[in-house]
Amino acid sequence: MNPAPHRMPSLFVGHGSPMNALADNEFTRVWRALGTTIPRPRAIVAVSAHWYTRGVLVTSDARPRTIHDFGGFPKPLYAVQYPAPGDPALAGRLVTMLAAFGARPSADWGLDHGTWSVLVHTHPAADVPVVQVSLDASQPPAVHHAIGRALAPLREEGVLLLASGGIVHNLGRVDWQGGSAPPAWATAFDARVREALLAGEDERLIDYATLDPSAPLAVPTPEHYLPLLYTVGSRLSGDALALPVGGFELGSISMTAAMLGPA
Ligand code: ZN
Repeated sequence: MNPAPHRMPSLFVGHGSPMNALADNEFTRVWRALGTTIPRPRAIVAVSAHWYTRGVLVTSDARPRTIHDFGGFPKPLYAVQYPAPGDPALAGRLVTMLAAFGARPSADWGLDHGTWSVLVHTHPAADVPVVQVSLDASQPPAVHHAIGRALAPLREEGVLLLASGGIVHNLGRVDWQGGSAPPAWATAFDARVREALLAGEDERLIDYATLDPSAPLAVPTPEHYLPLLYTVGSRLSGDALALPVGGFELGSISMTAAMLGPA
């Protein structure tokens, strides 16, 4: 007997440095707390900034591998494994649900660090099946929002939607020593996005390039911002939006998280 599924939240997380996988800090403590308050999902559909492809791809593996898709980090980070199962049946359904967007299965990926650096905290037991959906680099922001809308009904079936990226993410401006205060352009853009999120102004979030003069510095490339549009696109009636954590790391990297869920 399976209990009736809870409506699952739709969660966006600014994942910051891959080192957060191993960290115990103000951000990862919030992620851990979220994992204990969100009802247990039957599966997780994850959209990560780090799977940016031509076309929409869906991981179809029964045993997705843990991908260490970065260079130059300390050895312990390469030893992290996140052995959650996949869900080939759900992957097949996602390909059908997203047929209008040209979705197709992929056995060439797995779970990248955008996904597992968060899930090691929210779901440390790695016992909930995870399927990743890629970001189609050829599509404008409005299409990413539309894909989020297409995924929304899964939330009523006990599927947690996790989008992982960063509202402000400019690797050329990162302070790798991490000691500096966030620059004004970073705090300005993050604040504008937070305002638009709380006001439910999806159109402004889609047109992020004109949201604030700081946009070209805050979002020099779209892949870390776009996951946010999946979260706001997946809004269901009766949802409320919360901002569980905010702030910056490495100077200008936004750690803002946003969660839609039953009010
Ligand atoms: Zn990243």
